Amino acid sequence: MNLDFHYYGTYCAARLAGYGRREAEEIAYYAQFVDECSESLLKKKGVSADRLSVTVNSDDELTAQFTDLRAYTKEQLRQVGGIWSAFHFLPGNLHGEIAAAELSEEEQREFKRLCLPDSPLMVKMVQQAKADGSLPAIGMAMHILADTWAHSYFAGIPARHVNNIQGDVHELRDTREVKLTFTLDTLPDNLEGNRYSHTPPNAFRDKSIVYLGHGRIGHLPDYSFMRYAYKPAWLQSGMTLKNNALDFGKAFCQMMAAMQYIRGDRETFDKYVYAELDAVKKQKLQELFKVRVLRSDEQWRHFIEHDLSAEDTAAGCIVAFDVNKCFREYDAAPRKSDTGLARFLAASKNHRYLVEKEAGPYPA
Ligand SMILES: [Zn+2]
Repeated sequence: MNLDFHYYGTYCAARLAGYGRREAEEIAYYAQFVDECSESLLKKKGVSADRLSVTVNSDDELTAQFTDLRAYTKEQLRQVGGIWSAFHFLPGNLHGEIAAAELSEEEQREFKRLCLPDSPLMVKMVQQAKADGSLPAIGMAMHILADTWAHSYFAGIPARHVNNIQGDVHELRDTREVKLTFTLDTLPDNLEGNRYSHTPPNAFRDKSIVYLGHGRIGHLPDYSFMRYAYKPAWLQSGMTLKNNALDFGKAFCQMMAAMQYIRGDRETFDKYVYAELDAVKKQKLQELFKVRVLRSDEQWRHFIEHDLSAEDTAAGCIVAFDVNKCFREYDAAPRKSDTGLARFLAASKNHRYLVEKEAGPYPA
């Protein structure tokens, strides 16, 4: 998922869950901030070392890993796996929900980190966000919850036996199957030409950056319109089918249910609980998800202005995302602990503890 869903989509789900415009905007801001909060950014902005908590690697940090041909050290694995497992690929296979044959003991342990939606850990995360209660903590949890849908069947660790793919990838478009081409460039994906960038395989190393998350299948999991079939490394036979529009719809309704619960408007929250959307909005959102574009910001802005609520229509759309907003507030605040950024960083530390406690150490 990209800024389109994490920022605008989270805003809409928060509004429909009952939050006011200003609160929904703050939740949406911190949902997107999970994709911004790199070590280099925090250091550049002068955030004090005792507060540092990182939720993503910047593009430059990833490129540096990519061009470093040495094998990961245990410490590097811990850092990379800690960030990507906790914040973008929440482990969902801790009780062996999906079995894979012919794995060594170490591989079995790593396979438990497969990201799956509707996991017990996702429910615990939502309960922890409720206990925290701050809007930045809620935004952070909504990012991670949404990612469990987009990133299902991949893991946030560099592991070939989990994240590699076998053979061709086909987009299922209407009644046609279109074979996709993958390239190693950094050009934008070409939807008309059916060409997508991905990471190359690495024959020499099982724990390589190219096997982190969904790199081997490029950005396919992040596009709401994409419906595709492929064979993950761990699947013995058959294919895995991903229908992103359906999954993004479920993510949206699960975020709504989670936020209704956090607000106290829903008594319980559990796996497989989704809020009901009215038929018109449901239809409009499905149409939005199916538009073939790399980023659907414009479609979301249109939805907010015309279809979300009378209040939103009158007010127009929310402001465009500005990553510096939280740092301006932080710099100006006499008490840093009262700022949204400090709350976000504290919540992200607690979330890391929760994931480490539940999923165990990585590498083991
Ligand atoms: Zn993410």
